[in-house]
Amino acid sequence: MTAPIQTTNKDQHSELVELDKQLLWHPYTSMSTPIAHYLVEKAQGMQIQLADGRQLIDGTASWWSVIHGYNHPKISQAMKAQIDNFSHVMFGGLTHKPAIELGQKLIDLSPDGLERVFFSDSGSVSVEVALKMAIQYWHTQGKPNKQKFATPKSGYHGDTFAAMSVCDPVNGMHGLFNQALTPQYFVSPPPTGLESEVDQSYLDEIRTLFSQSSEQIAGFILEPVVQNAGGMRFYNPAYLTEIQAICEEFDVLFILDEIATGFGRTGKMFACNHANVSPDIMCIGKALTGGNCSLAATLTNDKVALGISDNDGVFMHGPTFMGNALACSAANASLELLIEYDLEALIGNVENNLVSALEPCRALSNVADVRCLGAIGVVELKEAVDQKVIQPMLVDEGVWVRPFGKLVYLMPPFVAEKTDLDKLGSAIFNVLSKLNK
Ligand code: PMP
Repeated sequence: MTAPIQTTNKDQHSELVELDKQLLWHPYTSMSTPIAHYLVEKAQGMQIQLADGRQLIDGTASWWSVIHGYNHPKISQAMKAQIDNFSHVMFGGLTHKPAIELGQKLIDLSPDGLERVFFSDSGSVSVEVALKMAIQYWHTQGKPNKQKFATPKSGYHGDTFAAMSVCDPVNGMHGLFNQALTPQYFVSPPPTGLESEVDQSYLDEIRTLFSQSSEQIAGFILEPVVQNAGGMRFYNPAYLTEIQAICEEFDVLFILDEIATGFGRTGKMFACNHANVSPDIMCIGKALTGGNCSLAATLTNDKVALGISDNDGVFMHGPTFMGNALACSAANASLELLIEYDLEALIGNVENNLVSALEPCRALSNVADVRCLGAIGVVELKEAVDQKVIQPMLVDEGVWVRPFGKLVYLMPPFVAEKTDLDKLGSAIFNVLSKLNK
């Protein structure tokens, strides 16, 4: 039997980091010039403890998922109890209480009209499922040519092939695969500004596209209110209402990707609640399990679900780990916590604290903009930062923040206190001031 790994010893620590560099491919990294990754020993609440003993305050909620903080006792207990029953059974032919309860909770929490739930493993797969549902729906409606999608530029929907095809074609990190991707229809990104007046010429652009090509377009997919990985762009929720109406006029399904924005991140349970719209199909993931394990879902209304299923139709998808019981138990506990919170007050408070924590950055000459919405705080720089340079500077300041491109942003756990956010804000200010010299 191999001995348990002790990460506290300094030699073993460097040995592990070296082995990691040799063996493990991390997100968006090279194996010929691997970089050292920070070795984590423990994570609790807002803190990530590194194996070298350093404590970092987390400003990322581990890619926006760990909304209740790390190792939340209620979620950990629910998962331990589920492990003692069973962690997983196949979802073909079998079902279980954690999945059924979760389905019910999701339908209760999501906008009226969404009635059916398809579970999958990751956000990207839930997008694949949404796109397949849309194509299959139109097939059953006698419109088999509707196989393409329309989407705004600056969007991000995941790293699998169909999801990549609807990411921003230039900035979407996927330019290299262009020849292998299904060409889709792109419109301009929604004009920025949460309160800026709705630009009719933007809506006309969508209307013109649909009037020329809606015979080929199965759905319009977008991230509601915030385009996240494509630039942390905030736009007026009123666009959602207008775009949905145009979709209905031209027989195009309205698909919302709430993977980043769902479960309170923008101040409401779902970002589409800001506009009181209910999409035909909605993708969720990330914070669904409180960031404890991978689980995603695609929700639909009855028009789509029954459209596909009537006349002996079956939906053609079925991942091995669909409805994983351990993940469902984590999600149930996470949603119970969310339901217990006064969510709008909690996130309103985080937003106020983010505003005051990040506001000083506005005075720096390398900063182009500072903006906050809900538990999202963004410092946009004039030039892109070199992650290899800025990351260690942030760690030296005692924070875990993961900038990309021109964006240094915070999407912290919702349990972040004012003191945590002030510390994160001043760490960002100090680092950006140093880089400004
Ligand atoms: N859609 C959106 C809006 C996302 O932000 C992401 C992940 N950043 C995805 C889809 C893909 O999710 P996953 O990484 O879980 O596959």
